[in-house]
Amino acid sequence: MSRTTIDYGIDLGTTNSCIALLNGTGTDIIENNYQAKLTPSAVWMDGKCRLHVGQKAKERLEDDPCNAFSEFKLQMGTSHFWTFQNSGKEVRPEELSAEVLKSLRGDVEQQKGEVMNSAIITVPADFDLPENAATQRAAQLAGFSYVQLVQEPVAAALAYGFQSDSDKVFWLVYDMGGGTFDAAIVQMRDGIIRVVNHGGDKNLGGKQIDRDIVNNILVPAIAKQGYTLPDFKKGNPRWLTAFAKLKAAAEDAKIQLSRTTTASIVIPELCKDEQGNAVYFEYDLKRSEIEPFIEPYVERSINICQKVLEEKRLGTENIEKIIVVGGPTLTPLLRDKLSGRMGIPLDYSIDPLTVVARGAAIFAGIQRQETELPKPSRGQFTLDTPHQPVGVESEPKIGGRVNAPDNRDLTGFTIEFVELKSMWRSGIIKLRSNGSFSTELRAEQKRMNEYLIELRDAVGNLQEIVPDRINYTIGTTMSNPILTHSVGVATANNEMQVFISKGTPLPRSSRQRHYTTTEVKRGDPSTRLRIPVVEGENTKRANRNRLIGSLEINGAQVRRDIPVNTDVEIKITITESLEVRAEAFIPILEQVVDKVLVLVKEAPDLDVLEREINKEKERLGGIAGRSRSTNDQHSEIILQRIRYEQTVDHIENALAAARDGDPDASHECLNRLHELQTSIDEIEDNLAWPMMVEEAQEEMQRAWNIAEEYGDDNSRHRLQTLEQEAYKAISVQDRDLLQRKMEEISTIINQLLLARPEYWVFLLEQLEEMKGQMTNRSLAERLIIEGKRALNSNNLDGLKNCIRQLVDLLPREQQEAFGNTMPRGL
Ligand code: ADP
Ligand code: MG
Repeated sequence: MSRTTIDYGIDLGTTNSCIALLNGTGTDIIENNYQAKLTPSAVWMDGKCRLHVGQKAKERLEDDPCNAFSEFKLQMGTSHFWTFQNSGKEVRPEELSAEVLKSLRGDVEQQKGEVMNSAIITVPADFDLPENAATQRAAQLAGFSYVQLVQEPVAAALAYGFQSDSDKVFWLVYDMGGGTFDAAIVQMRDGIIRVVNHGGDKNLGGKQIDRDIVNNILVPAIAKQGYTLPDFKKGNPRWLTAFAKLKAAAEDAKIQLSRTTTASIVIPELCKDEQGNAVYFEYDLKRSEIEPFIEPYVERSINICQKVLEEKRLGTENIEKIIVVGGPTLTPLLRDKLSGRMGIPLDYSIDPLTVVARGAAIFAGIQRQETELPKPSRGQFTLDTPHQPVGVESEPKIGGRVNAPDNRDLTGFTIEFVELKSMWRSGIIKLRSNGSFSTELRAEQKRMNEYLIELRDAVGNLQEIVPDRINYTIGTTMSNPILTHSVGVATANNEMQVFISKGTPLPRSSRQRHYTTTEVKRGDPSTRLRIPVVEGENTKRANRNRLIGSLEINGAQVRRDIPVNTDVEIKITITESLEVRAEAFIPILEQVVDKVLVLVKEAPDLDVLEREINKEKERLGGIAGRSRSTNDQHSEIILQRIRYEQTVDHIENALAAARDGDPDASHECLNRLHELQTSIDEIEDNLAWPMMVEEAQEEMQRAWNIAEEYGDDNSRHRLQTLEQEAYKAISVQDRDLLQRKMEEISTIINQLLLARPEYWVFLLEQLEEMKGQMTNRSLAERLIIEGKRALNSNNLDGLKNCIRQLVDLLPREQQEAFGNTMPRGL
């Protein structure tokens, strides 16, 4: 069967994957070989080096953990790889993902007898560009010739919105999966769904909860049983299998606890202890025991939702409902807290575990499949039409052009559309001499309308035309996706220069100029220009964002040498399918260099991470004390959030997990740390503001005292104007403006003071008191004597000269401190 639209949508999940097919206005899930709707995202290599995907592989995670892998989606876009012990083969995350995709593709072939060449694949909206690029590579490896990526919350919104009558409403999509979290606000308007804002966390999901259950409940329970299990932790290769079993048991029990209040865990042989005895583990896990560990994650997810609303100045009353997606949302505590805290009704009427695949299939139904159209054979007529397969109109316009083979004359030809079910006819339409036409179709609600195309020649004989039919469904469509994180480069002074900002509709290109800082020598790849690329929203401190790769031009790519300080124009393009491309234009060489973007997320060094964490903990302790003493409300809110979300504990847990060999925990740790750093920066800035205001007020008072004594009308008038401007800056909390105004006020004071000889006398006295701290005591003493002599002989220039030299003898910090009390420009 050939399809005119893509129709198949794949949810390539961390834990489970799923494939759906659009069927009219509904969707069907394609079941796998085990008649299951969900295929676990797990791959196992058996003893004969054959690969298995899904349930069978998931089962082997416990007893063959060196040949069975899962949760590889969380490693997409990194340089991590796994090694199958059975074959020694190294595999990257996209290769494992490709196996899952192949398996789903195989299910379609088996169930539908169709070979899938194109597909829509969903990705978390929070994914960075390297993760998306790796997903594209996975699709290629799986043999798809065309693939388009769609963000998971967008797909979920479409599943709910496709046949909905709601209009002019906002929805919040809350999607928590196996290891990722997305919150997106969408708006339904005029039959189009638009993503308004997004927030998320790449490391928030069921996996974190399972890890907490194992480490905080099960491992301590085993310790109490009296077996000798030396160094019983996940990182120890000896206990790899035991920990894989514990994780699986924890997950099963957790899922059960969404229905019951107690779940019993029985592992007949967890492992063998030091004496060779089988360790029998039995434990009754209670819902009340795991809830304290789930709560901070829910807290964090709700805070993200609130931020997403606040950023668009939307209140909870503006949101009609929360669309709930993903396995963990079946947890009663999560649902209660989410609806309680947000005060918005939840909607989970479409199965939270398959809704993303269903939405992806609907999206696929909107995408025309050019590549799959049957090729016209010689002598056939063809139809070119920009016709959209889905839209809100019940009488959609259709136009296009019929192309005749061998330039045959189309005079007298007609075209007519006949809907197959209702037998509605468009009536005969005469083609214009160039073959073009336009008319309207009539469509019925709640089903796919299929129109046969009848092309007739001048004497009324039917002619074969390709395609011979078109489809149209009345339904909601999607507007262009938006970029979910700003993309830019880190500059030498640690600022982020943004190329494309968060919220920009895609596709989008952006150009910027850069100057080379090293020489690039033709033919020598070791000489290169390298600019770090970051994703994130902290434009003031680039290192708080995620490093996703670099823009690179090396000697092998250029026609001639590029000297230092050469102008290079870089263009970055991000497509609708979240694909990114970058090229550089070097004007002096008149050369365009393509593929200059290297996307990869390097795993952070754990020792460096640990040092950074300790530094931040200290910083946090310091500002917490200061915030309490200043009673700054805003800072207190941020600190409370850090406490409720147990941010510091989670950072440390992630570090411990990374040390225990969990490959994505190091990124989890780093991302959380960046966030903590940003929060602490924010508090520091907050606390600095009241102090800055107080200092400004004191300085203005001092300025008036000086102006009253030494100033004239002119200087007082200038001071008055500046004072008004400074107060305005205070009222709008504009730090930079206040600073500028205070500098201008200082200049006036300085000018007034510098004109007064008594001021110089005062400075000399001050410096004399500080002579004990000067770097060269004997020189200082000589300068003071000289200064006094100059004073007595009314030699002002001589006095100034001595003072300048004395200031130079102060230690650096003292110079600065002294400089503040001294007129500028001394
Ligand atoms: P993904 O899309 O990332 O693969 P899913 O939406 O399939 O994730 O959710 C998988 C996660 O949901 C796993 O961590 C699983 O343990 C958890 N989960 C599944 N069912 C339940 C349930 N009934 N209660 C709590 N958690 C659940
Ligand atoms: Mg999911």
